Amino acid sequence: MAKNNTSATWSKRLSKAVRRPIGGVHPDDQKAAQAVATETLPVPPLVKLAVTSVTPAGCQLLVKPGDQVAVGQPVASPVDRMSVPLHASVSGQVLSADEAVNINGQSCPVVVIASDGRQTPWEQLAPPQVTDFDSFRQAVRASGVLGLGGAGFPAFFKLGSAPDQRIDLLVANGSECEPYSASDAREMLENGAELLAGIRAVLDYGQIDRAIIGIEGNKPEAIRHLSELIGDDERICVRVLPRRYPQGGEKQLVYAVSGRKIAGGALPSAVGALVMNVSSLAAIAVYLKTGQPLTQRRITVTGPAFDRPRNLMVPVGTPVSQILTYAGGLNGAGSCLIQGGPMMGRLIEDYEAGIMKTTNLLLGLTAAQTKKPAEQACIRCGLCAEVCPMRLQPSEMNQLVLLGRYQEAAERYYMKDCIECGCCSFVCPAYRLLTQSFVYGKQQLRSAQQQTQGGQTK
Ligand code: SF4
Ligand code: SF4
Repeated sequence: MAKNNTSATWSKRLSKAVRRPIGGVHPDDQKAAQAVATETLPVPPLVKLAVTSVTPAGCQLLVKPGDQVAVGQPVASPVDRMSVPLHASVSGQVLSADEAVNINGQSCPVVVIASDGRQTPWEQLAPPQVTDFDSFRQAVRASGVLGLGGAGFPAFFKLGSAPDQRIDLLVANGSECEPYSASDAREMLENGAELLAGIRAVLDYGQIDRAIIGIEGNKPEAIRHLSELIGDDERICVRVLPRRYPQGGEKQLVYAVSGRKIAGGALPSAVGALVMNVSSLAAIAVYLKTGQPLTQRRITVTGPAFDRPRNLMVPVGTPVSQILTYAGGLNGAGSCLIQGGPMMGRLIEDYEAGIMKTTNLLLGLTAAQTKKPAEQACIRCGLCAEVCPMRLQPSEMNQLVLLGRYQEAAERYYMKDCIECGCCSFVCPAYRLLTQSFVYGKQQLRSAQQQTQGGQTK
């Protein structure tokens, strides 16, 4: 009887219409890894923890070579108002803490810890004292949780980013629209109770009315499992989304589940919404319950260059080479490894770099798959504009970027609104490197802005 009631509630919840996505494409989703349970990677002999921060030099190191550290002990703490601490993911001895290149190819301090294999927890780990919104937000910051879907924006900062705006809707992002990626799908299946605990904590302390978990329809097991777990909790529901890339973009997701349109350059808070990744919410719940900060994460290791798809629970900082060895290595000469999916991912150059909190997918591609035809002249077919989820004019912006007219691309064609989703490049019959040009153009704009600000403060 109870089961029938629950089923009826699901049907009611699942039948709510979602809005048709604006633009977007349908890449082959390649979600074989969704069906594979997570294995735990053996503790690596060492980890390399990249100390990154939201603002330049936004974190300070707390350890030096020779120090003994335990799992969960902070090795770097924020000194700006946006960054989060970084914690040791293995117990052992700090070997070095020098400037090095991280998995993203960026230079930053990297703390190298030799594991003693014991995984001794830090003695000061304890559940945080949370009594109100401010202490909740501080706890989320202390947990070290970032946007684990790949965006990497600090979770605590999102919670307080719009103090003057009333937030009435939490959108838990479980869309995971990037092809091959399955870590969020496994999180929802294997850690559903923690995910719901995280959602309820954000609703309670943030005084938010309700939560919608947005999940693409290609994850039926996660949809069913979470709907069962939600039961009669009227504050939370699952909304099934059509399979469409980039369904997981914040603007696209909020519109799909609620019909609220976020203007270019605005945040979800402008329409009363807060978007958080499902794995981030689960990690917050774990910290609230145990005091265990984010020291490990689930990674999907898949693609045609691997024997089979895997999901692995991996200490943050584990060198890519360790994961490759465990997964049996890449097949075929000329194969390569991408961090992230085929639409937004980037090539990993150094397999000795450590994975970061934002590394959710290691995609192995064969040599044939990485060959791209040469760029040709634009034939003005308009396909790129048709699929752009931000309603931009990619061909026009591309022309201006190639001419070095970045400011004009921003002012006339809103290039700063580009979310770098890759849809325009995906459909372009002339193989133009559109997205890459916008990434470059936006970097040039940021550099120019920093130089201007630097000049003004001299
Ligand atoms: S899709 Fe490519 S060829 Fe077509 S208009 Fe856009 S840039 Fe030009
Ligand atoms: S990469 Fe930018 S311009 Fe291209 S489709 Fe995505 S949002 Fe539009």
